[in-house]
Amino acid sequence: MDADVVVIGAGAAGLAAARSLGRRKLRVLLLEARDRIGGRVLSHSIAGIATPAELGAEFIHGPAARTKALLREAGSAAIDMGGDAWVRENGGLRCDEESFASSARIFEASRSLPDDESVEQFLRRFENDGALRETAQSARAFVEGFEAADPAIASVKAIADEFESGTDSTSARPLGGYGPMFAQLRDDCERAGVAFALSTRVRRISWRPDGVAVEVTDSRGKSQTLHARAAIVTLPVGVLRHRGDETEVGFTPELPAAKRAALARIEMGHVVKVALAFRTAFWELVTGGRYHDAAFFYIEGQPIPTFWTQLPIRSRLIVAWVGGPGAVALSGVRAADLIEKALHGFGKLLGDTELARREFVGGHTHDWSDDPFARGAYSYVAVGGGNARAVLAAPLDDTLFFAGEATSSDGQGGTVNGAIETGERAAAQAAAALGVKEIG
Ligand SMILES: Cc1cc2nc3c(=O)[nH]c(=O)nc-3n(C[C@H](O)[C@H](O)[C@H](O)COP(=O)(O)OP(=O)(O)OC[C@H]3O[C@@H](n4cnc5c(N)ncnc54)[C@H](O)[C@@H]3O)c2cc1C
Repeated sequence: MDADVVVIGAGAAGLAAARSLGRRKLRVLLLEARDRIGGRVLSHSIAGIATPAELGAEFIHGPAARTKALLREAGSAAIDMGGDAWVRENGGLRCDEESFASSARIFEASRSLPDDESVEQFLRRFENDGALRETAQSARAFVEGFEAADPAIASVKAIADEFESGTDSTSARPLGGYGPMFAQLRDDCERAGVAFALSTRVRRISWRPDGVAVEVTDSRGKSQTLHARAAIVTLPVGVLRHRGDETEVGFTPELPAAKRAALARIEMGHVVKVALAFRTAFWELVTGGRYHDAAFFYIEGQPIPTFWTQLPIRSRLIVAWVGGPGAVALSGVRAADLIEKALHGFGKLLGDTELARREFVGGHTHDWSDDPFARGAYSYVAVGGGNARAVLAAPLDDTLFFAGEATSSDGQGGTVNGAIETGERAAAQAAAALGVKEIG
């Protein structure tokens, strides 16, 4: 046996699972295809800029107790957001009182529907409703922008559940980004004796009631088979669903039909996120300082329409964002062109593209949709998906355990905190199956 438990994937879920198992004195081997930990958390430091460019996860959604506890352990903290939201329309910028999230309350009405339906179908009801038409448009923008989902596919009941859980109230960021928390998780794992195998791609997982055999290939193309009593699989659904090339991950025997049906009802949402570094925070000074306390900006009609500052920290960094169908429409566009589009949009928004260009220092982005180890940004539930997340989470034969944001079934799907909780849940399940209950 190479380990008691192999954990597949060193993102939030995998690190949390490995740490928890290591602390229970189990022999843990953490397998990760990339040459780094963190998965869809990717903090990029820019020389001279106080805040890192978070090319993946950036915010802390909802109460997120586990994340906040981990931040404290890492000597960091969650900092509340604040500031104004500005929307460009009719040639000027208007301060927007109502957030996307508050307009999404409209989804509460979907609870009384006899059957699930798509967000698109649900919102169509309000098309000719004078009072609610605008709210419905805003709610659609919320589903696309925040959930990264396609309204024609997304389950309205799942969105309503997520909204009720409080996860959608974006309220904080980790001080200094997610980097310190992930470094702490890695250090905790090492202290607990977890063995790391980075640049090690899993290709096939063979499972039976008393053990697993995991075929891996390292960065030099060398393959081997590793054996353990159990495995925790934290692969993103985009990876689990992917078929047809050398990055496919196979299962022997094939996953049961219920699991495959659940996977088919969980979609990967798509996002384009671009970090723009400037010489100064010039937007704080234009128009007599009107946008001095701006947190969010939105401009209709641009391919990348949403921008945010790093408030309450005054930084020279702007993040540009588009989610859902708008992000899919940009698939295949080169990084340099995405950065150019984001810069142009931000200049347009402020009414001075030349100034934005003069102040611009550099841009950074990561193509999560084209990334073979993510294949999208984060998951959402498709129409009729009901309990798909819980089905995906269910263990098989007390041998194969599942974690990762997509398996979070309490409204925290698609978040870092949800991923951490699933990792700890799967670790407890695996430890119990192996007869180890107490944390040592
Ligand atoms: C652009 C973007 C913005 C986001 N913003 C936020 C946010 O503000 N707040 C928030 O809470 N969440 C946000 N998220 C979502 C958040 O990043 C994820 O929910 C969370 O990080 C997922 O953790 P995980 O452990 O489930 O998956 P991952 O982090 O994806 O971990 C899975 C690991 O498996 C590895 N892997 C894949 N294939 C293989 C293989 N064949 N063999 C071995 N290893 C493999 C991957 O490399 C990865 O390290 C964002 C995501 C993106 C992409």
